[in-house]
Parts: sequence; C-alpha cells; structure tokens
Amino acid sequence: MNLILLGPPGAGKGTQAKRMSAEWGLAHVSTGDILRDAAKKGTPLGLKAKPLMDLGQLVPDEVVNGIIEEWLKGPDAQKGFVLDGFPRTLPQAEALEKALSTAGMKLDAVLSFDVPEGTLVERISGRRSCPKCGSVYHVVEHPPARSGFCDKDGEALIQRDDDTAEKVKERNRVYEQKTAPLKAFYGEKGLLKAVAGVGTPEGIFAEIRRVLGKA
Ligand code: AMP
Repeated sequence: MNLILLGPPGAGKGTQAKRMSAEWGLAHVSTGDILRDAAKKGTPLGLKAKPLMDLGQLVPDEVVNGIIEEWLKGPDAQKGFVLDGFPRTLPQAEALEKALSTAGMKLDAVLSFDVPEGTLVERISGRRSCPKCGSVYHVVEHPPARSGFCDKDGEALIQRDDDTAEKVKERNRVYEQKTAPLKAFYGEKGLLKAVAGVGTPEGIFAEIRRVLGKA
C-alpha cells in the first residue's frame, strides 16, 4: 500500500505515519526528518535547506524531488510507503507521478488531515522531540516519564527550531498557499480521503483504518 499524508503543521502526520509503519510494515518517509538530519550533519543538502527551514519556507522542488526519486529506486520502496510531508507543491506532486509511473508503482490513497487551528497551535507549542532517536512527545498530552528527557534513551528533549509561534504562522501560510491545492489535485483522481484529525492518536488511527477500509 502506497500512501500520502497531507495536512498543516501539527496535524499529526508524523505520529500517524509512525503508527501506520509499525502496524502495516510500510516504510515511513519524512522529507522534514531527512532535511533536519542533513542539517544536523552539515551536509551540502543540509546547509542549503537549513536557512529555508528556519524561515518556515519550502526547500526548492528540485531538491526534495531528487531525494524522493532516489528513494523510490531503493529496496525499501518495494514494501509500500507512507509519505509524510511530500509532496507539498503541485510540481512535487507531478514529479512524484512521473517517478512512480517509471517505477511501475501507484498511489492507493491520499489522507488529508482536517484539524481546527486552535488544536494545531496547542499541539505544536507543546511538541518536544528527542534529537537522538526522533521520539516525539507533548508536554501535556503525551509527556515523558521524566520531564524534559526521552523515555527511550534519556536524551534531553528539544523543541524544533521552526515550532515557534511566528514560524508556525509562516508555515501555515505556506501550507494554505502551496500545499492545500493538492487536495483538489488528488480529489480529481479519486484518491483523496478526509481524516478528522482530532482526539487521541488511537482514535485518529481508528479513523484512518476506517477510511482505508482496514477496520
Ligand atoms: P516538516 O517536518 O514536514 O514540518 O518539514 C519541516 C520543513 O522542512 C518545512 O517547513 C520545509 O522547510 C522543509 N520541507 C519538508 N518537506 C518538504 C517538501 N516536500 N518540500 C519543501 N520543503 C520541505
């Protein structure tokens, strides 16, 4: 099964992608994670992406398209995938279509997460993550056992550089302008499925199962 997750920052794409990957054995591909990792390591890709990410703006299409095109040629793509944070623009969606058709693959569904703005702000402002293993927490909804430290490896949790109120506003603006039009693009292809992204992570996962007919 090959899936795309669409939704504004804080919609829960990453959390649900991890669950879907664990439950169904799908590869979880997050372009945001790939770019943050490259930035941390200071690779040429990371050095190019970091200033844009810090402004809440998108990395150029050809850069992210290249990452996904390469990944699709690798062995993990064969087990099925959930794309989290890609595509984010129409040219990215078109590049993906081409790359999939070259690889003889197709999309099964595009899940679009609908979440009220107040919930998005709450989720993002309380989000903390482990720089070592990538585990994600929320200071109120999903706190670690020891405040400020990862349950899995004891590393000090951090707030993402782009999770501040001002940057979230810009990321939302970019989402509405560049990414939201993808709903119509995939809607016309009969692939779009709306997911009510409110409530507990378990409840939202049940809703995903339901819309995918895997209840
Ligand atoms: P995310 O973790 O998905 O919220 O992504 C964090 C940041 O990485 C975004 O605000 C962008 O700067 C960059 N990014 C991630 N995915 C893409 C993409 N598909 N196209 C362009 N920029 C991206």
